[in-house]
Amino acid sequence: MMPASQPPTLKHCDVLIMGGGPAGAAAGALLAEQGWHTVILEKDHHPRFHIGESLLPLSIPFLDQLGVREDIERIGLRKYAAEFHSVYHGRSTTFEFGDAMKRDYPYAYEVRRSEFDHVLLQNAVRKGVAVYEGCRVDSAELNGDGIGTISAIHESGERDTWQARFYIDATGRDTFMADFLGVKERNPRHRSAALYAHFEGAQRGTGRDEGNICIYWFDHGWFWLIPLKDGTMSVGAVCKPEYLKNRRGSVEQFFQDTIALCPGVAERLAQATLASEVTATGNYSYQSRRMTGENYLMVGDAYAFIDPVFPSGVHLALNSAFLAAEAANGILREPKSTVQHLRQFEREIHKGLGTFSWFIYRITDPAIRDLFMNPRNVLRVREAVTSVLAGDIFRNTPMKFSLSVFRVIYHIKSALIRWGWVPPVTR
Ligand SMILES: Cc1cc2nc3c(=O)[nH]c(=O)nc-3n(C[C@H](O)[C@H](O)[C@H](O)COP(=O)(O)OP(=O)(O)OC[C@H]3O[C@@H](n4cnc5c(N)ncnc54)[C@H](O)[C@@H]3O)c2cc1C
Repeated sequence: MMPASQPPTLKHCDVLIMGGGPAGAAAGALLAEQGWHTVILEKDHHPRFHIGESLLPLSIPFLDQLGVREDIERIGLRKYAAEFHSVYHGRSTTFEFGDAMKRDYPYAYEVRRSEFDHVLLQNAVRKGVAVYEGCRVDSAELNGDGIGTISAIHESGERDTWQARFYIDATGRDTFMADFLGVKERNPRHRSAALYAHFEGAQRGTGRDEGNICIYWFDHGWFWLIPLKDGTMSVGAVCKPEYLKNRRGSVEQFFQDTIALCPGVAERLAQATLASEVTATGNYSYQSRRMTGENYLMVGDAYAFIDPVFPSGVHLALNSAFLAAEAANGILREPKSTVQHLRQFEREIHKGLGTFSWFIYRITDPAIRDLFMNPRNVLRVREAVTSVLAGDIFRNTPMKFSLSVFRVIYHIKSALIRWGWVPPVTR
């Protein structure tokens, strides 16, 4: 432990990344490959638990470019489809990724995030990133519209101050910069909370369906069932925050009681035992009022998080990491292009969030439920929805028209239900 009076050391690098989750590790690896002296400060020690185990097919090109695909194939379970189960309709629908508009990525992976995140961080180290684990960023000094220095404390109590040419905030839901600047806001359009845990002995799909993610709607929201390679099942209930406030007994008992309210999930867990603690996460939908400053930007959850239903978090984190690396690289090479790079970065991030959030905001709406349970391929609508489920929102896949048709059908159906001309499908 350093004596308190000793001043912190001032260290320098080209790019300082705060946080070593998927977004930070991917951006770091890409920037080190470009020859920049890149540093990641991570408060934890990997491998460490993280929720968010279901990946999307269109993340695979990112894994290929990072050079970690084989590692993920080794730790992951292939996921060929997303199943939606409706207690209201008494059946399920399966969206096979191989039926999307472009069929080049027919599967994704279900992963233990401790392993997945560790692979990505180790990859960053291999590519030359200096990673400091057990080192928490806890303050910043601003310089005009940018960051002057960042201060971080090691578990030993030792403190470092970093001065970088560019900074990336990848601190996830800790949202270091957004909190520091006071620009974090609750999402006004979406409020969700979750309860989740791992189970052993849950009933799994068989053959090619074993890795499918299963979404079950129920009266208070929806459940996810994500099968992991070692036989574990990740189970989560996403509900309105008010529902969670009803809790009287232990979190574990409340989760078991919630499971009992959804017959499909209860049946699959009838022989299962809890294999982890039950975690409750309060209202988690937020966005920051700003994403960039003169010499920094925010990636992944450090900027925004909406909801896991699609499940887009890791995909958006990786996509933002690739865009961030491109922007930082361009800015470091050509400082005069800073504004152009930052605006381009912001546009792309908003595009991704916008496409997913349209579906997320409506996922428990009876009209959407009905459309998902009766997916017709009129004007390639089903293929377009499958493409969104696969995360195909950053390429030029020609699905804009079909998605607009889907939205029009949704609005008509929703209005008919609202006006009482068509009854919603209920139990
Ligand atoms: C209930 C729930 C279920 C989800 N399910 C899914 C899913 O199935 N699929 C999916 O894709 N996504 C899912 N997500 C979202 C997903 O987990 C995140 O979107 C994803 O982890 C974002 O990656 P990231 O790198 O931005 O942040 P993170 O993965 O959170 O990484 C941030 C890192 O920064 C470190 N850090 C934080 N603060 C500091 C600091 N001050 N100094 C240094 N280091 C710091 C943390 O230790 C962490 O390692 C889910 C989220 C929730 C809440």
